[in-house]
Amino acid sequence: MARLTIDRVSKNFGNYRALDAVSLEVRDGEFLAVLGPSGCGKTTLLRQVAGFDQIDDGEIRIGDTVVSGTRQHVPPEHRRVGIVFQSYALWPHMSVFDNVAYGLKVAGVKDPERTRRVREALALVGLETFAERRPGLLSGGQRQRVALARCLVTEPSLVLLDEPLANLDVHLRAAMEDEFARFHERTATTMIYITHDQAEAMALADRIAVMDRGRLLQLATPSDLFRQPANETVARFIGEGMVLPAEVAAADSEGRCRGRIHGLELSLRASPLQKAGHAKVCLRARDLAIAGPGEPGLAAHIVRTVYQGGFFRLEASLVRAPDITVHLEVPEPFHHGPGDVVDIAVHDGWVLPAETESSSQ
Ligand code: ATP
Repeated sequence: MARLTIDRVSKNFGNYRALDAVSLEVRDGEFLAVLGPSGCGKTTLLRQVAGFDQIDDGEIRIGDTVVSGTRQHVPPEHRRVGIVFQSYALWPHMSVFDNVAYGLKVAGVKDPERTRRVREALALVGLETFAERRPGLLSGGQRQRVALARCLVTEPSLVLLDEPLANLDVHLRAAMEDEFARFHERTATTMIYITHDQAEAMALADRIAVMDRGRLLQLATPSDLFRQPANETVARFIGEGMVLPAEVAAADSEGRCRGRIHGLELSLRASPLQKAGHAKVCLRARDLAIAGPGEPGLAAHIVRTVYQGGFFRLEASLVRAPDITVHLEVPEPFHHGPGDVVDIAVHDGWVLPAETESSSQ
C-alpha cells in the first residue's frame, strides 16, 4: 500500500480550470474522502490520480514514484491503482468468479495462482459462496462487492472509489458503509473515496478533503471540519453551519475569546492567533436553544416549525437583522408558531479564521 502525494496539480478543459493548484497528501493506509458539490472537480481529481488525463501543472506521486508531471506520465495500467465506479460494469455473461479473474487473465497470471487470488478476493468481500452466480442474480450491494473484489484482486497500491454507493437504496448504503469500513480495517488499503454525501464521508473517512470550484478548501478529520471549519464555504457546506457577523476580542492561548453577535455577549472558540475586530462566526444548530428564564439570547421571529419526531426544527429570523435566519432543534412540547418572537441562547460558536491564501488550505 502506498502514500499518495498531489502537489499543486492543475487541470484545464479549454479555458475552464477544473483543478486549481490542488495539494494534498494521503497517508499510507489512510481512508480519505473527497467531498464537494456537483461539478467541484472530484472526478477530475480522481482521473488525474488514475492517469486517464495529462495534468497541466504540478506533480502526482505514488510512494516515491512520480506518476504525473509536466514532463512525465505513467499510463494507468502501470500505476497499480484500482478503481471502483458507481456503475459496476460487470460482465453479465460471466460468473462472479470469472468477472473477478478477468483482469488477472489479461495480465497473464496463470493457475493455480489465479484461482487462489480470486478466492482470496471473494473471501475478503464475503462472496465465497457466490462464485458461480451470474451478476444478474445478485443484489446491488453484492454486485458492488464483486466490483470491489475485481479491483482488489489486482493488488493495487491504492484504491479509488467514485461514489460507489450512489446507485444503492438507503438501507443498502448503510450496510455497505459498514462493509467498506470493516474492509478498510482488515486490509489497511489506502483508499480515496469520492462522494457528495457528507454523512457517508463523515462515517467512513479518517480525513475529508472538501473541494469547491476546483480548489481544495480544507483537509481535516471529520470532527475538525465540523468544529473548526476553515472558511465560510466549508462552514455552510458541512453540517448546515450558520455564519453570522460578530465583533470579537483577541483570543487567549487556549483559543477562547469574548464576542458580541447583534448585541449578545458570549464566549467563543477561536484560533489562539485570532485578533480583535470584525469576524464571522459559525454556529451549529446544536449550539442554539430557546433561552431559559433570565438567560440572554437573540430575539427572533419564528418563520417555520417542522415536527421531526420528538422535536421540532425551528427556523427563525433575527429581530435586529431579519435577513439572517437561524435554525435549531427544540424538544416537544413546544407551543409557539410562525410570527411569535422567542429568545435564542447561543452556547458555543467558532470564529472563522480571516480568509487568506494559507488559511484556506
Ligand atoms: P459530480 O459530483 O457531479 O460528478 P464532480 O465534482 O465529480 O461532479 P467533475 O466531473 O470533476 O465534477 O467536473 C468538474 C468540472 O469540469 C465541471 O464543470 C465539468 O463540467 C468540467 N469537465 C469535466 N470533464 C470535462 C471535459 N472532459 N471537458 C470539459 N469540461 C469538463
